[in-house]
Amino acid sequence: MLSVKNNFNAVMRQINDAALSCGRNPEEITLIAVSKKKEIPVILEGINTGAAHLGENYIQEAVRKIDSIGKNRVCWHFIGHLQTKKAKSAVKYFEYIHTVDTIKLAREIQKQALKINKVQKILLQVNIGGEETKSGADIMDIHELAHKVMQLDNLSLKGLMCIPPYCADPELARPYFRKLAQIRDKIKEEFKNPAIMEHLSMGMSNDFKIAIEEGATMIRVGTSIFGRRE
Ligand SMILES: *Cc1c(COP(=O)(O)O)cnc(C)c1O
Repeated sequence: MLSVKNNFNAVMRQINDAALSCGRNPEEITLIAVSKKKEIPVILEGINTGAAHLGENYIQEAVRKIDSIGKNRVCWHFIGHLQTKKAKSAVKYFEYIHTVDTIKLAREIQKQALKINKVQKILLQVNIGGEETKSGADIMDIHELAHKVMQLDNLSLKGLMCIPPYCADPELARPYFRKLAQIRDKIKEEFKNPAIMEHLSMGMSNDFKIAIEEGATMIRVGTSIFGRRE
């Protein structure tokens, strides 16, 4: 029988083991429980088991759920593709937005954050596999985007996020994770401020162990916690 509690605890153990086996402190790794397409009772089960970070992909669905569960009860992360016209809601509801990939979107988030006097934490999404069909900024453009975002006072640049090309064998995702870490390190060096770009949001149910070995500080896990989606 599916039990969110057992699943969540099993994932926490796997994070712990993966971190220790590569000499990292498990506390550096934030587990984001991805609750897209899951309903409120199931999400509450996760929260009651200890999920403190929740990830959602679709603004309308998220707004409905967050209004019911509570904006400040857990830390909400937006991890889906964000349209400019939905930036206002994203800023209102989410502590982190992981999917900023154009300067246009960054400027709209800046505008909306300024209006409510908020400093919005964001990550830049990188199209790490250079896939036609995927969102994310090109690797070639990411430095320039990071520097432009740094000029926007109501944005706090927390790191980089990626979704590597899907592979059944998680080991094949390793080079993509490693590449994201290298890009992050290089940009971080340019800014010389430890609070900027500290995060690497990478790794999902299938491959979070490999992502942790490559330096992930935020992993986004849905299926392994809440079960398969419709
Ligand atoms: C759905 C989703 C996840 C979670 O994927 P699982 O394979 O269910 O763990 C993580 N990140 C993003 C961006 C997603 O859209």
